[in-house]
Amino acid sequence: MTIVVKIGGAVGNSTEPLLAEMSHRPDVVLVHGGSAEIDQLGAEMGRPSEYYTSPSGVVSRRNDPSHLEVVVLALAGKVQTSLVAGLARHGVAAVGLSGVDGGLLRARRKEGARALVEGHVLRVANDASGDIESVNADLLWLLLGRGLLPVVGPPAVTAKGEIVNVDADRVAARIACALGATDLIFLTNVSGLLRHRDDPASRVRRVSRAEIPSALEWAQGRMRKKVLAARDALEGGVGCVAISASDAPDPIGGALNGTGTVFA
Ligand code: ADP
Repeated sequence: MTIVVKIGGAVGNSTEPLLAEMSHRPDVVLVHGGSAEIDQLGAEMGRPSEYYTSPSGVVSRRNDPSHLEVVVLALAGKVQTSLVAGLARHGVAAVGLSGVDGGLLRARRKEGARALVEGHVLRVANDASGDIESVNADLLWLLLGRGLLPVVGPPAVTAKGEIVNVDADRVAARIACALGATDLIFLTNVSGLLRHRDDPASRVRRVSRAEIPSALEWAQGRMRKKVLAARDALEGGVGCVAISASDAPDPIGGALNGTGTVFA
C-alpha cells in the first residue's frame, strides 16, 4: 500500500502536523508545491510572481526564464530542504528530489499556453512550463526499498535537458499513477472542496466520478488544478483521492477517514 501525499505551499498551510505523523507512516511519497515561498523570494529578488488565467479558467504561474530561476531556488533551496530537515527532526530519513534528478519527471514543453486578458486571448510568451510525460518510478522504488522517504517537487526536465516548471498537483497525480498508489491526498489550506468558495461550511464530503464536471464548476482558481489532478489520478487507477486540511492533527489519517473531500 503506497500513499502519495501532496502538501500545499500556499499561505495558510501547516507542515508540522504532517511531519509529526510521518514518523509512523512508512510507504509514503511526499510531493510539495511552494507558491508562498516562491512569491516571497521573487519579491525579495525584485522578480515578483505573475499569474495568468487560461480561457478555461485555470490560474497558472508565469514561467519565463527569470521567474523560473526563482521557482528553482525557492523549491529546492527552501521548501524541499526544510521538509527533509523537518522529517529528520521526527526521525524520518528522507531524500529530496526535483523532477530533474535522475530524470524523475520527464516533461514536454507546453506549446501555445494562452491567457485571457480583459476579454482577449493572448499567447503567453517565453513560457518554460511543461506537461509531464513520464515518471521514473524505479528511482522512487529504489529509495522506498531502502527505507528512504522521497520528497519530490517541481521542476521537471525535457528530453533536451531543459528545465520546465510543472504543476505540483499534477506531479502528485502522475506519481500516484506511476506507483499504482492506493490513495492520493492533497493537504491544503482549506478543509476540502467547498461548494461555495467563500463558505467554509459548504464542504463537499464526496465526489463521484460522474460529479467531477460539477466539482470543476465549484472549484475556482487553483482549486481547479486539484480537481483536474484528482480526475487524472482516478482515471489512472488510483483508488481514492482526498483533499483535506494540512493543519489538522494526523492529517493523512484524517483524510483517509473522510474529514475532507473524497473523490472515488
Ligand atoms: P495549496 O498551495 O495548499 O495547494 P492552492 O492555493 O493551490 O493551495 O489551492 C487552494 C485554494 O483554492 C484555497 O485556499 C481557496 O482559496 C481556493 N479555492 C477556490 N475555489 C475553491 C473551492 N470551491 N473550495 C475550496 N477552495 C477553493
